[in-house]
This record gives sequence, C-alpha cells and structure tokens, in this order.
Amino acid sequence: MNALQPDNRIACHECDLLMQRPQIQGDQVVNCPRCGSRLISSHPNSAERSLALALAGLILLLPANLFPVLTLEVLGRQQEQTIFSSAMVLYRDGLALVALAVLLFAILVPLCKLLLLTYLSGALHLRRRWPLLPLAMRSYQHLDQWGMLEVYLIAVLVSVVKLVDIADVHPGLGLYSLGALIAVTALSSSQLDPDLFWHQIADLGDPVERVETGHE
Ligand SMILES: [Zn+2]
Repeated sequence: MNALQPDNRIACHECDLLMQRPQIQGDQVVNCPRCGSRLISSHPNSAERSLALALAGLILLLPANLFPVLTLEVLGRQQEQTIFSSAMVLYRDGLALVALAVLLFAILVPLCKLLLLTYLSGALHLRRRWPLLPLAMRSYQHLDQWGMLEVYLIAVLVSVVKLVDIADVHPGLGLYSLGALIAVTALSSSQLDPDLFWHQIADLGDPVERVETGHE
C-alpha cells in the first residue's frame, strides 16, 4: 500500500486544519472552512500568466539597472545614480553592509526570483519535467519574502524629498522602470498560487517528488 498520497489532503497554512482536497476546475477560490483564509485560488492559465509576468519582469530589470534612477544637479555639476552605483557610493563611504544589502535585495534577489519563476512557469506551460523543479519552487517561495525593491523605491523617494532643497533632482528612466518592475513582481507574487504550482509539479512526476514507499 502506498502510504504517501500528497495530493489527497490539504492543510490550511493559517490554522493547520487538515481536509480533503476539493476538486477544482477553472476559475475557483477555496477558503478554509474554519478560519476563512484562502487555500486555493485557481486561475485559468496560471502558468502562462506567471510566465508572461516573469518575462516582463526580466525585461524591465535591464532598464531598471542600466539607466539612472536619479540625476542630481548641484552647482551645475550633474551626477547620475543607478542602483549599482548607489551601492558603490555606500561602499566607498564605509557602509559596506548597507551596500551589500542593496546589491542583494534590490538586484540579486529580484533577478533570481524572476529567473526561478520563468523556469517554473516555463516547465509547467510546456508540461516538461525539467530537472530540480521542486528545489526551484522551494527556493522561489523562500526568496519571495526577500525581494525588497519596494523598500529601495521608498528610500529613493525619501532621498528625493530630502535633497530637493539643496539640489535639482531629476527622476531617470531607471526610476520609472523600477516602478513598473515592482508592479510586475507584486502582480506575479499575488497571481501565483503555490498550492496549484506544487500540484502541477507533482503531476509532471518530477523524480525528486516520487518517493517510493510500499515497495518492500
Ligand atoms: Zn484555516
């Protein structure tokens, strides 16, 4: 007898209530009967939506990093700042840890998140059993909490307010791209239903997920 049937039951992530997995088709939402939190929100073409958003995010990541977020003009002297160059300024000012945090949470983590999401949704869209899908999904879920583009954007806006008295501050193309990138990543996070993705990954039968039990 196979003791491991991961898809027949579902646990509420808020109150831990264990219940039978409901059969869902199409555009449906399932809430926990005990605490009311959302368990499953099934959108048609979920993988395709995620793939489109991830690709849009990867494209936006380029101008957000290549073009200046802000241009400062003091006494006729112009200085353009990209995300990377602002981290370098922090590093040169002796704030190595803050510089590292900017590099990690404003560049590397969003990039990794978008690459993982492209890989996952691409595999699910093409229904291909690409390697390490469960690891990619786990990593994506861990990283989801660590992308801090919004914090960076707020820091930029605060600095604009503070600098506007002493310098001419011009928002650059990087700032608009950053805003669009934040909207796209927020949308991709809210659209993605982890339960549905896990279900589809298990359906593809990734070898890592196939724990063999009951074959004594
Ligand atoms: Zn619950």
